[in-house]
Amino acid sequence: MSTMDYTNTYTDTRGHTTEPLTFSQAIIKGMAQGGGLFVPLVLPQLSLDEIVGLGSLDYGAQAAFIYQRFGVDLPAEQVEALMAEAYADNFDAAEIAPITQVTPDTWVLELWHGPTSAFKDMALQCLPPFFSAAIEDKKGTDPQTPPSLRAEPPEAAQRDRRGRFPSVLNRTHLSGTAPATRNYLILVATSGDTGKAALEGFKDRAHTRIIVFYPQDGVSDIQYRQMATQQGDNVAVIGVLGNFDDCQTAVKAAFNDPAFNQALASEHNIQLSSANSINWGRLLPQVVYYVSAYAQLVHRGALAPGSELDICVPTGNFGNILAAFYAGQIGVPIGRLFCASNENRVLTDFINTGVYDITNRPFRLTPSPSMDILVSSNLERQLFELNGRDPQRIRQWMGDLAATRRFQVDRDTFAALRASFSADWVSSDECLMTIKTVFDAHGYLLDPHTAVAWKVAERLRGENPVLVVATAHWAKFGADVYRALNGLPAGSALPAEAAALGDVALNHLIASTALVSGGRYCFDTSTLTIPEVSGGRYCFDTSTLAIPAPLAELNDLPIRFTQTCEGTAQAVQQAVLSTLPSIS
Ligand SMILES: *Cc1c(COP(=O)(O)O)cnc(C)c1O
Repeated sequence: MSTMDYTNTYTDTRGHTTEPLTFSQAIIKGMAQGGGLFVPLVLPQLSLDEIVGLGSLDYGAQAAFIYQRFGVDLPAEQVEALMAEAYADNFDAAEIAPITQVTPDTWVLELWHGPTSAFKDMALQCLPPFFSAAIEDKKGTDPQTPPSLRAEPPEAAQRDRRGRFPSVLNRTHLSGTAPATRNYLILVATSGDTGKAALEGFKDRAHTRIIVFYPQDGVSDIQYRQMATQQGDNVAVIGVLGNFDDCQTAVKAAFNDPAFNQALASEHNIQLSSANSINWGRLLPQVVYYVSAYAQLVHRGALAPGSELDICVPTGNFGNILAAFYAGQIGVPIGRLFCASNENRVLTDFINTGVYDITNRPFRLTPSPSMDILVSSNLERQLFELNGRDPQRIRQWMGDLAATRRFQVDRDTFAALRASFSADWVSSDECLMTIKTVFDAHGYLLDPHTAVAWKVAERLRGENPVLVVATAHWAKFGADVYRALNGLPAGSALPAEAAALGDVALNHLIASTALVSGGRYCFDTSTLTIPEVSGGRYCFDTSTLAIPAPLAELNDLPIRFTQTCEGTAQAVQQAVLSTLPSIS
């Protein structure tokens, strides 16, 4: 495989970038001037042989290969080392993103084996090492550095046990001007899973601090506990009074306020950055698992090389499904992309009509809170790729959306959208019924987000095999899984005995009873993997019923963060300023 170093550059969806940036610069900036999102100027092309060949490499090596082909501005050996750090025993599956066959032609890509049990880990275990490498090499702040002075990777001998490189800050002579080290504050608005995953990824990293804002009315008890108990000296967690859109809007406004940024820079030597899913450093790791999944299926003999695979993604901010689209663009034989929504179905309506309309669209709380989103930020990148990369029309549509809460794409863009995507949505009750139906039929337990995708895949599928993307472990949403398995409607009160347990104990109850009722397909639950049973039924690794250790132990950790604030930019700014001293 090629080890050639080549550097790609980045422009933005609204066309305000005059001097293209490198990968490192793009991930440090997060969002472009003028509100656009960074996109690579050139998309690499992988041959089928290259894609299939990846099937024999470990996940970190696959990721390094794809980063190299995307022209990341770091030497190949350093990319390999950073990937070995990102995808290691912080995941509880050696494959990192294993695939489970649930019916003869339905495969589930499990993206929840990372430290926080949600797919955000796939990107947020990867972005922080690259972010650190970028700020340590001063690439993000010093675009003048000539390529010949770029830092070389430290020698392999200097890596620590987990393959991490030591700090390379003493190499500032390489950048010529030796600027004072700038500190970065990662501001995150989260609908639940991103916050925890970002906290885990950035905790105790040099020169970075992280403050996470989450909507008080919009996260599960488990998600709340995961964040409120977060360890690390450079982290803080703040509850916003309101829903996710209020929270995201307030944080974005703070982010874009010049006076606030100025104050942070002059008084605290701090620059804001974003780990939200609009950051290209979040997108690229997601492209990796789609390429990897295809390679893995071919390697296992489940797919003939070159045959099409449809992919169904439970969608919120459109990052995950966009990554699948990019995987197709660079050469993975993807058939159709199924965009699955919950009752907040603005994307379903958009893909079916070409009109994105959030006037009079009520915001609903559902059992899949990470998809409770009305303004889908990564859709902007998708539209840019579909409209022939025309920033002018992106500016117009995004302007319309801001001014009138609505926009309509032109006919060609709509046709391009329809050529790749189909979309449908699932009610909250249907979502819970799907969890039960799939568990009863196959002994496989889905989380509510994945259940939405499962049901939509059932409705939209054609001839091709389908890869259903599993975005969370069920134990993050135990109360709804309990409702589902007991046939209770979404939003209903739990029976008193169940409510009294609390979510963590409830998970243990579900795992033990589910093992018993699921056990008829899985004879010996201690020996885990059991192959096919008769009659087209499969038996699964019942470790999917086991609760990941960090979730199982949640009740034993002290709550560290209790602060709340109003959902306005001003309140968010005040909260940041008053919190900074305690995380510096
Ligand atoms: C973030 C998230 C989603 C939505 O992913 P997008 O990339 O925002 O579309 C779906 N499911 C879970 C569990 C998530 O955490």
